[in-house]
Amino acid sequence: TINLEKVEKRVRTTCPYCGVGCQIELLVQDGKIVRSNGVEGVLPNDGRLCVKGRFGYEFVHSPERLTKPLIRKNGELVEATWDEALTLIATKFSELKEKYGPDSLAGYASAKCTNEDNYIFQKFIRTVFGTNNIDYCTRLCHASTVTAMLKSIGDGAGSNSIEDFETTDCLIVTGNNIIETHPITATYVKRGAAKGMKIIVIDPKWTPLVAYATIWLQPRLGTDVALLNGMVREIIANNWVDHSFIESRVEGGMQAFLELKELVEKYTPEVTEKITGVPAQKIKDAARIYATAKTAMVATGMGMSQQVTGTHNVFSLLNMILVTGKIGKERCGIDPPRGQNNVQGATDVGCHPAMYPGYIPVSDVENRRKVAQVWGVPFERLSDRPGLTTVEIIQAAYHGKIKGLYIMGENPMISDPNLNHTEEALQKLDFLVVQDIFHTETTRFAHVVLPASSWAEKNGTFVNSDRRVLRVRKAVDCPGDAREDWRIIHELAARMGKPMPNYRNEAEIFDELAMVTPIIAGISHARLEEHGIQWPCPTPEHPGTSTLYTDRFNTPTGKAKLFPVEHVDQTERATPEYPFILNSGRILYHYHTGTMSRRNKTLTNFTNHPYVIIHPNDASKLGVKTGERVRITSSRGTLETQVHIADEVLEGELFMPWHYTEAQVNRLTRDELDPYSRIAPFKISAVKVEVLS
Ligand code: SF4
Repeated sequence: TINLEKVEKRVRTTCPYCGVGCQIELLVQDGKIVRSNGVEGVLPNDGRLCVKGRFGYEFVHSPERLTKPLIRKNGELVEATWDEALTLIATKFSELKEKYGPDSLAGYASAKCTNEDNYIFQKFIRTVFGTNNIDYCTRLCHASTVTAMLKSIGDGAGSNSIEDFETTDCLIVTGNNIIETHPITATYVKRGAAKGMKIIVIDPKWTPLVAYATIWLQPRLGTDVALLNGMVREIIANNWVDHSFIESRVEGGMQAFLELKELVEKYTPEVTEKITGVPAQKIKDAARIYATAKTAMVATGMGMSQQVTGTHNVFSLLNMILVTGKIGKERCGIDPPRGQNNVQGATDVGCHPAMYPGYIPVSDVENRRKVAQVWGVPFERLSDRPGLTTVEIIQAAYHGKIKGLYIMGENPMISDPNLNHTEEALQKLDFLVVQDIFHTETTRFAHVVLPASSWAEKNGTFVNSDRRVLRVRKAVDCPGDAREDWRIIHELAARMGKPMPNYRNEAEIFDELAMVTPIIAGISHARLEEHGIQWPCPTPEHPGTSTLYTDRFNTPTGKAKLFPVEHVDQTERATPEYPFILNSGRILYHYHTGTMSRRNKTLTNFTNHPYVIIHPNDASKLGVKTGERVRITSSRGTLETQVHIADEVLEGELFMPWHYTEAQVNRLTRDELDPYSRIAPFKISAVKVEVLS
């Protein structure tokens, strides 16, 4: 209970957890946050919060916060001054650059940091390191979604607004446990369902949304392309196609459509049932419900993207959307709800190995000239070579090609695939700097650890899942000697002989960012005082854009493109040695690598231990009961965990949440990559299960 009379300030800001971007008011007393309330009357949440937004702020004042820089001496991390730590970092990175060249260095940005932090970080990597080796965890979640959407429709962001999830007539939710991972977006879905919206859930695993679904398709893991091709075939066979949309808004018009028609012809309902396990009648029903709805949207998640066929999965989804003309108008489109609070913004501002701020390719000479001028650096300093992606950086470190790595607010020792390999790669680095708010599984390998600020201790902006640029406001001071992320990077740039301008505050950083990022050129901190603005917003008078593609797609021709793709078998399948396929994902009460959520008593009181879900028939064959322990092993690694028996998964399939360091799911996963997006297949690992006595 708090005494409201003693509350010294109320600070409106944005939730630090998922990509919904809920607006919250932090109540501060004696320099500490004592309550978090939802802000009414503003989107996207209009007062609502989920359990993480409401109770998940305790980590800010955890006694485990990093408060001093740490330098490794004789194998131990010991406290140091900022001067010692920054001098050492500047010296080491400069030496490595001199000896091995700029491309021997790399940086991981952070989806938990602000746009201003991330913008300064990518500017540092490009102008001080002199490389495009910059990426972050988006590569591990929606990289394939973004790759497919950029090629097909021209933007990788959601095409609609979160509130449209209530008013569309039909919603497909595929590979996305929306009630647990984006709970406030799901409140719009539930309200829509109450008013008669048709919901189609496509997921190999039961999720709470199934209770609201008109129909649930439960395909075997890794058969999404076949299922969607089957639905497209059914749509074409019944002439539920929007011919005028195809003729006017799809590249190649009817000719392109006929090529798709020819490819999907073999995916009859019976063939599709054989591949996917989904009954033919359900495939027909789902196709009819979606195609004949007046308006329809699709929410696509990790289940689609985290596969070696991730890009093809999303192409097949986009094909279905385009042949039915269900995009480019109000309450019609495709929306990938983003996992972390600023995963959208970090890419928007250029934390991408192949793109500058605003999704402009590094190869674009005119843009590099313009950016060099704004940044006040010689044009020649900006590399035109695309850099390495997240997993490629680790693979290059393993092979001795990356020598120095600067990690800001990421924890690859939980989040990256094939952790045994990641661990070896980090150990091979000549120099690793980790900037974070807590010790993590990754700081164990760092040569220097820098204490950074949490979201409640900084000003700036985030971009949520519907492209809404939202303000972040400082509520409390950093603990001890911890500093704001951008200020650390800014000082390091000066110490490496490449100083940046003297920004007086985050608003000035945003103004520079807007100058090199056309999609947000019309936005400023001042304009965001009352509410967020959705990009594209090209001028100061522009109100922002709630629905994309109403006139044209953002492709060179202005038209969308069909990409007919075939179903192929997954490269990893169940074998007699590894007879189960393991799926992984998130739960409501925890968040990603757990550094924040697992330091909140309210959240850990709900649940705080790893488990594996096993189908009752498999459990009975194994002779195991709920609560007993098993060892799970893949060809990459092994872990032990507790059994939870439920028919939420298909026979032969398993599910584990990946938040827990006590049972690191990514010890089991592969770092084989989707060739187009370079994403790893977190959803499909062949494993065996042994019961522990
Ligand atoms: Fe925060 Fe997401 Fe929950 Fe909203 S839905 S309160 S943004 S975690």
